[in-house]
Amino acid sequence: MKNILHHLIQLQELDFALAEQKAADPQAPLKQLAEAITQLRDQLPEAVLGRYQRLQQKNSLAVVPLANGACSQCRMAVPPGIINAVRAEEELQTCGHCGRFLYYQEGLPRQAKKAGHDHRPPQAGLARFSSAKLMIPKLQAKTREEAVGELAQLLASQGFVEEPGRVVELALRREAMVSTAVENGLAFPHVRNVEGGGLTFAVGLKEKGIDFGTPDGRLSKIIFFIVIPAPASAFYLRLLAGLVRTFSETDARKDLLECDTPEAMWKTLSKLTRQTIP
Ligand SMILES: [Zn+2]
Repeated sequence: MKNILHHLIQLQELDFALAEQKAADPQAPLKQLAEAITQLRDQLPEAVLGRYQRLQQKNSLAVVPLANGACSQCRMAVPPGIINAVRAEEELQTCGHCGRFLYYQEGLPRQAKKAGHDHRPPQAGLARFSSAKLMIPKLQAKTREEAVGELAQLLASQGFVEEPGRVVELALRREAMVSTAVENGLAFPHVRNVEGGGLTFAVGLKEKGIDFGTPDGRLSKIIFFIVIPAPASAFYLRLLAGLVRTFSETDARKDLLECDTPEAMWKTLSKLTRQTIP
């Protein structure tokens, strides 16, 4: 049963990765990823796979962690007996309310309450997700690990995530599955299922580029580090597509990379995405 649950979690991650790659670059060669997905599917019992697919079609997330004794997606309390069974991983368990497969995750990353978006006035465009405080014009980082660490640390110091170390660990685990780097020197390392708050991102620039582990060795110069609460999962793909579209223009990349203060970066980024992320 342990294996089935782990296969399900991995299958969902790969399905997300595939959707992300498609949103970012419809022409990207996805053969390897598609093959890995087929392989995982083949290893699952038919009934489990059927249920997974139905859940996924209906609401994109089919396998979700418990959070404070409740299903992290529909928020309904889960009976203690089921919680124990989920923790023990003895038998596949599902939420009695929404039917999603449940798993237990130690230390779910959280967004700090004090800095949630809840206290801000409603805004349009990019300001819903980030601010000048979350821009780094010159990353110190030389590696992917350091870049993710630097951006996570900034999110933590601004009160957007708790336990940056845990966030980094999860982002790198996702990165190890398939690189989040796409064309034009962009990379989108991220963490899903963050509790509380709204979708938030920090941006770092690295003129020299950082190796995000793409098969062809191309380097990433504009790095978006994104924390994604479960309810924003589907919206994330639209944001990703908007950002990729913005920076498919050479001039847009040049304008942003030339910024040398967080304020200039934020102003430029907001201006560039006015059309693509309304
Ligand atoms: Zn549920």
